[in-house]
Amino acid sequence: MATQVDLILHNAQYVVVVDVQASVLRNVSIAVKDEKIFGIVPIDQENQWQSSKVIDCSHHLVMPGLINTHTHTPMTLLRGVAEDVDLQGFLEKVWAEEARIMDEKGTYIGAKLGALEALLGGTTCTLDMYLHPHMAHKGAVEVGLRHLIGPVFFDFAGPDGLEWDKRIEHLRNWPKVIKEIGGAYAPLVAQPHSTYTVSPEHLAEVAKVAKEIGAIFNTHISENQAENEDVIKRHGKTPTKVLQDAQALDNAVFAHAVKLTDDDRNIIKENKVSLSHCPGSNLKLASGAFEWVKAKEKGINVSLGTDGCSSSNDLDMWNVMRSAANLARLITEDAAAIPVAEVVRAATYGGALALGMQDRIGTVEVGKDADLIVLDLDQPHLVPVGDPHGLLVYAAGRSDVVHVLVAGDPVIVDRISTKVDMNQVISEARIHSAK
Ligand SMILES: [Zn+2]
Repeated sequence: MATQVDLILHNAQYVVVVDVQASVLRNVSIAVKDEKIFGIVPIDQENQWQSSKVIDCSHHLVMPGLINTHTHTPMTLLRGVAEDVDLQGFLEKVWAEEARIMDEKGTYIGAKLGALEALLGGTTCTLDMYLHPHMAHKGAVEVGLRHLIGPVFFDFAGPDGLEWDKRIEHLRNWPKVIKEIGGAYAPLVAQPHSTYTVSPEHLAEVAKVAKEIGAIFNTHISENQAENEDVIKRHGKTPTKVLQDAQALDNAVFAHAVKLTDDDRNIIKENKVSLSHCPGSNLKLASGAFEWVKAKEKGINVSLGTDGCSSSNDLDMWNVMRSAANLARLITEDAAAIPVAEVVRAATYGGALALGMQDRIGTVEVGKDADLIVLDLDQPHLVPVGDPHGLLVYAAGRSDVVHVLVAGDPVIVDRISTKVDMNQVISEARIHSAK
């Protein structure tokens, strides 16, 4: 008798597995049961399963959902507020706008808009960072995104007006908040903004509490030269050294890392810190070029991020993959600097590894959570397929993603959300950003 499963992805033309061998399967069916990938079999063995939900994938490519390891999702509402300025000019403009519209309600509305944008573009999991994190989490989870976020820290009160002790209290209470909101499993996160907005003593305090509750430690480092110079002037050492001395390298994910010294890279490698490379934002703000090849030579785990919509204007991980691949090739003048399969792996498995979720997501393998995306190959720009990894990095884009599963739940079907009224999310965002 056939085994009852929750859903079958029938006859996938291609499956990009993202395992170490960079396998690509042809004409297989995938069964999903109890949130997980239950089986992957050749099409003629599919009759061992039965399900009332069958999605035809015979002209499609199935792959793991993309994992965005650095963004500020609610900042979708601040899209386009700071053009033609560098990081410091950007921060000035953005902080003023945040004070105007990014209260709890704005954060919630922006998170819903951003989560919808992310999912429609094939991103299934996001490491987010924003003020009012409980509201950002609530919004993102309602739309169906696997969403990691935690309390954010500045030495000063910040646009949310919270004093330091309140922020620490918020972090201690965070496991409870995450549990109450629900949604797909997501680890805890503690998020001091940077080494230029949080003192070494405060960084050490956050790292200590993060360890106590088992949270990822996530911050921005060495985004551009001016930041490095500012931190060196204040503390006599680079941001990475400041974090090392604050004992803030355990279970850590650092965003940007554009201006690293060899010494910084050694510290990052030795402490198994993951980096989130955000080429879209680094290029736009003229921050510099992240040296992916140097990180790779050291054996550092590199994942990819979009950064927020006021510094890179969208949450498009396809654009990020392409920019990252091209940037690595350009600065090394080596067309094989980072091969296409490694770029796809950084956008999926690399993200999972950064978040400590490599046993759960990031590849299409039996037993993993079913965070899967399905691309429609019946598009002129996707014919012929050629090298499937090359297709994904250099030809595919967000609008090719037709179905999205998060923990086995089909949250996007035929490019429509099954969780929220998309027109309502868009209209609420429009109204709030114009207020
Ligand atoms: Zn950022």
